[in-house]
Amino acid sequence: MSSYAAPFPTVNRFAHPDAKGRFGRFGGIYAPETLMTALAELTEAYVAARDDAGFQKEYLDMLRNYAGRPTLLYRADGLSKHLGGAQIFLKREDLLHTGAHKINNAIGQCLLAKRMGKKRIIAETGAGQHGVATASVCAKLGLQAVIYMGRTDMERQALNVYRMRLLGAEVRGVDAGSKTLKEAVNEAMRDWVTNVRDTHYVLGTAYGPHPFPMMVRDFHRVISLESRKQMLEMTGRLPDAVVACVGGGSNAIGAFFEYLEDETVGLYAVEAGGRGIRLGEHAARFAGGKLGVLQGCLTYILQDSEGQIQDTHSVSAGLDYAAVGPEHAFYQERGRTQFAYATDDECLDAFKTLAHTEGVIPALESSHAVAYGMKLAKSLTPDKQVLINLSGRGDKDMVSAARAMGSDLRL
Ligand SMILES: *Cc1c(COP(=O)(O)O)cnc(C)c1O
Repeated sequence: MSSYAAPFPTVNRFAHPDAKGRFGRFGGIYAPETLMTALAELTEAYVAARDDAGFQKEYLDMLRNYAGRPTLLYRADGLSKHLGGAQIFLKREDLLHTGAHKINNAIGQCLLAKRMGKKRIIAETGAGQHGVATASVCAKLGLQAVIYMGRTDMERQALNVYRMRLLGAEVRGVDAGSKTLKEAVNEAMRDWVTNVRDTHYVLGTAYGPHPFPMMVRDFHRVISLESRKQMLEMTGRLPDAVVACVGGGSNAIGAFFEYLEDETVGLYAVEAGGRGIRLGEHAARFAGGKLGVLQGCLTYILQDSEGQIQDTHSVSAGLDYAAVGPEHAFYQERGRTQFAYATDDECLDAFKTLAHTEGVIPALESSHAVAYGMKLAKSLTPDKQVLINLSGRGDKDMVSAARAMGSDLRL
């Protein structure tokens, strides 16, 4: 399963998306008529902000002084020794304020909303990390925050619900369908259509109609801008592999972006294999997904032969989504990224192993990347270097991890 086969086909990282938001045949703008103007305005405002030195300065200043960037590049000697293969490095996004990479994007989009004169922010959240990041930045910037969250996710991430409310956000539970992320996105879209004049929708991953996949990617690009420089400083060369977990795809695209043109660097995107690759038991879109349109863009989607969206399952709420970001679909089809998955059991094993060997407790989402990174490292010689993007910390997952491992925490 683990393979390493440099040189890898490279892609020009700035060639996509095109003006219509396409990454090859993926992506685009599939949105209701009422949102087309708002999306066009957003694109225009974003492109102007991106090229504005004042906005750049504000964004970088907040990344540094609020979020806590740059994050560490950490040499995981304990884990590497335990496995006896390649040297493992961790990019420590788990050390960021609010506990995950999500804050990079929340800061960027909230600053943009402010610049556009929008005072009301809405967001969807799965594991609750994006909701917490958005609520925090809104509190800091004096913006009103409304967060949509599926009722099932609210139960498995109760701590984050409390956290968001403490931060002054209104959390709206969504009872439709499977009561998870997909339904929360639908509700957020509905709100945005109604309130678009004074409201910005801070979409939480590299997904949705253009310009979201591009914009979210750009705000997370800082991950690989830092890690590439840090790897060169620490080891004198680039990693042989970069491994990241993929829900919608934001931490992975941020972790990969600066390496897309490096033919010696393998890029591994790890999906949630859940209880195994059977209908409704997983969220590995590249293991059974088909081309389709969901929530704004064309990409690989888990659906049945009638186009009904399949139920998904993962021990981690943040990877539990039926579609994958369009840029990932594009790079996968080109052969630039290798898709892989880790099952719930492999994820829990990696979760414990990293805690035991390094004293670092990863988020269950990130544990999928750790699981695959471990497998890959084991198959490689000690002169190879594997960089794992540790997208978040495990604090939020204590109750569900304990439950999955057979004990019940009464907090
Ligand atoms: C939300 C989340 C993810 C999944 O989202 P992506 O957009 O695919 O990065 C992964 N890890 C953590 C810790 C998260 O909070």
